[in-house]
Amino acid sequence: MAIHAKTALLAEGWARDVRLTLEGGRIGALSAGAAPRAGDHRAEILLPGMSNLHSHAFQRGFSGLTESRGPGRDSFWTWREVMYRFALGLTPDQMQAIAALACIEMLEAGFTRLGEFHYLHHAPDGRPHADPAEMSARIFAAASDSGIALTHLPVFYAHGGFGPTPPGEGQRRFTHDYDAFARLVEACDRMARPQDRVGLAPHSLRAATMAEIDRLRRDFPGRPFHIHIAEQVKEVEDCLAFCGARPVEYLAANMPLGPSCCLIHATHLTADEVRGIASSGAVVGLCPLTEANLGDGIFPGADFLAAGGVYGIGTDSNVEITVAGELKQLEYSQRLGQRARNVMTPGGSTGAALFGAALRGGAQALGAPAPGIAAGAPADLVALWDPMELDLADDRILDRWIFGRDLKVRDTWAHGVHLVQEGRHRHRARIEAAAARVLRRLA
Ligand code: ZN
Repeated sequence: MAIHAKTALLAEGWARDVRLTLEGGRIGALSAGAAPRAGDHRAEILLPGMSNLHSHAFQRGFSGLTESRGPGRDSFWTWREVMYRFALGLTPDQMQAIAALACIEMLEAGFTRLGEFHYLHHAPDGRPHADPAEMSARIFAAASDSGIALTHLPVFYAHGGFGPTPPGEGQRRFTHDYDAFARLVEACDRMARPQDRVGLAPHSLRAATMAEIDRLRRDFPGRPFHIHIAEQVKEVEDCLAFCGARPVEYLAANMPLGPSCCLIHATHLTADEVRGIASSGAVVGLCPLTEANLGDGIFPGADFLAAGGVYGIGTDSNVEITVAGELKQLEYSQRLGQRARNVMTPGGSTGAALFGAALRGGAQALGAPAPGIAAGAPADLVALWDPMELDLADDRILDRWIFGRDLKVRDTWAHGVHLVQEGRHRHRARIEAAAARVLRRLA
C-alpha cells in the first residue's frame, strides 16, 4: 500500500507531494515532490502519530460522572473515592470493553501508541485472578483489538501512604508483594507483540518505598520507568512530613533520573526541581485536561521549557480523548497562569512547538523508536482532513488544528495498518456496542 500526501510533516520538516509506501509496519520508500499513482491512498495533510504517555483506560467508563459537588470543598481526594468505587466493581470483561473503546477513540484522535499505567490487577474481592496477569492480558487484548501500539506499564502498588501505611480497603485490587509483581512483569513480557513494550510503574511515593523502587530498577533495568509525582499540594506536604524533602527532591536524591524516567504530572516544583528534571533528560508526563479537571494546579511550563526540559502528553483519566485538545489545554493553562500568550514556544509557531515536543517526549517516555515520518521509521501516521480546502502551509497547519477550527483527523495508521478511515475506527460499531452495554449498567 502507498500513501500520497499533498503536505507532510517529515522528520526533517514540511514537504509537499510526499509519496510513501508501507511495508510490514514500517515506511518503505519515501519521496517528496512525487506525483500520485493509481491506487495510492490520497491524503491532504500527513503527520506522525502521537504517543499517549499516560492513561488509565478503565477511567473512560466514568467520564463526566464526577462533576457534581457534595457538601464542602470538592477535590482530587473526593474524586479518588468515586474512582475507587468504580474500579472496585469492574469485571475483566467490563474493563476490556471500556479499554477497547478508549483505544479506538485514541486512534481516532491521532494517538498511535498508548502508555497504559495499569493498576487494576486483582478480582473485585482483592484476591488474585486464577491467572494473576488476567487484567494485564485484557489490556493487551484491548490494544490488539484496536491496533494501537502498547507500552504496558504494570503498576507496583504496595502501601496506602507515606511511612509506609497499610493500603486501604478501596485499594485492595491494586496491591502486590514484590515477588508477585515481578512475576506479573515477566508475564507481560510474554504477551507483548513486536511493537509493544513493557515498562515499570511504581504508582507513587505514597504506594512504593524507595527501597522497593530501587530493587525494581535493579531487577528490571533499561525499561521505561513511570511514577505519579507531585500532583497535589497535600502529597508534597505529606512527603515533607515523612522525610523532610519534597517528592521530586526525594526521588532525585535517591535514584538517578534519566531519559528512561517519566515523571507523571510533576505539577508542584521548586526552581531547583525544574532545573534538576530538565538537566537529567527525564520526561515530564503532562495530562493537561485531567489536571484541569482534577484541579491539580499549573505546571511551571515556561520555566521548564527555558531549562530545556522534555515533556509529553497523556490522556490520564480519559475524561476527553484528544491530541489537539491536550496540547491546547497545556498552552491555555500557561496563558492563564502567566497572563500572556504563546508561552510554550521558544519563538514562532506555538502549535508546532507543542506538537514537536510532545511527539519526541512521548516516544522517549514509552521506549518507542524515534518518531517522525522517514524511510524505515514505524508507519504510525495520521492524516488530517481539510474540508474547507484552506491548503495551509507548514506550521500554520498545526496552529489551526490545535487552536482553531476546520482541520480534523481523518485517517490513522498504526504499525502500518489503516485503522481509522473517514474519522472512524474500522471496528467502531462492534467495540462501541460492547462498551455501551457496560456503560449503561455503570452510569
Ligand atoms: Zn494517572
